[in-house]
Amino acid sequence: MWIRGLKYRGSEGNVMKQDSIAIIYDFDGTLTPKTMQEYTLLPRLGIKSKNFWADIVRETKKTGAETMMVYMRHLLDCAAEKHVSISKTEFLKMSKDIEYYNGVSSWFDRVNQYVNCTSNSKIKIYHYIISAGHLEILEGISIKKYIKKIFASEYYYNKDNIAVFPKIVVTDTTKTQYLFRINKGKENLSDSINEHMAEIKRPIPFDNMIYIGDGLTDVPSMALIKKEGGHSIAVYQNNKTQIKISEGLLKANRVDFIAPADFSERSKLYKNMQYLLDYVIAKIKYRLKLKS
Ligand SMILES: [Mg+2]
Repeated sequence: MWIRGLKYRGSEGNVMKQDSIAIIYDFDGTLTPKTMQEYTLLPRLGIKSKNFWADIVRETKKTGAETMMVYMRHLLDCAAEKHVSISKTEFLKMSKDIEYYNGVSSWFDRVNQYVNCTSNSKIKIYHYIISAGHLEILEGISIKKYIKKIFASEYYYNKDNIAVFPKIVVTDTTKTQYLFRINKGKENLSDSINEHMAEIKRPIPFDNMIYIGDGLTDVPSMALIKKEGGHSIAVYQNNKTQIKISEGLLKANRVDFIAPADFSERSKLYKNMQYLLDYVIAKIKYRLKLKS
């Protein structure tokens, strides 16, 4: 009988192994101190961040609408008012202005090297981003080369290449859809994920996943991964509100540990991540009977 994690034959008869780790990152507040819009679209459109978000929250509360839908429409309305056309090229150019937390630019190489050294290159490591923000901006970020796939909200563009309507809207709860896509290896959005797939046939089991987020919008993803035997981490900026949110997530067992959003080599986050990777690597080695 097969058990989870052992080799299995894929649909084309190839022998495959569940020997990959996925680290999945939220973006805004997790890798960057501010939301991506605050570095890009809001200054470009001359919008004051506080008022803009307050208007969205007000409308969402009043109408019961989905926050992301309200946000994407407000942004198009503001652009139209200011006679600014938002094109894909314009979006891409904006991503250069995004600022990251300390250590983010070297994090991915360090983590990859750590997994390769610890597992004698027998275990693969992949990084993903799942964000409610704009795919068009994320496609241009400096760390994109380290990311296997980015899942995020996206506009539909008319024949003149101008954003006119939401095409994909990622919300707190729909983020979990993308975790299933990673889990089942159905990363193209046109692939259906509803068909049953035995646990042993899923390329990246949930317990090989580590999710990193910064707040309550990450709760559905953190909770799903934890419930399925995987791991979650909350990072926080050094202020009372953020620390309190992270502590709440830890208390409710939604995360394995919390740490300041410092990704540098000597940080608590990197140290604890190494311990966690040791654990996940050991689980995989045990299941696959890998000797190093
Ligand atoms: Mg966030």
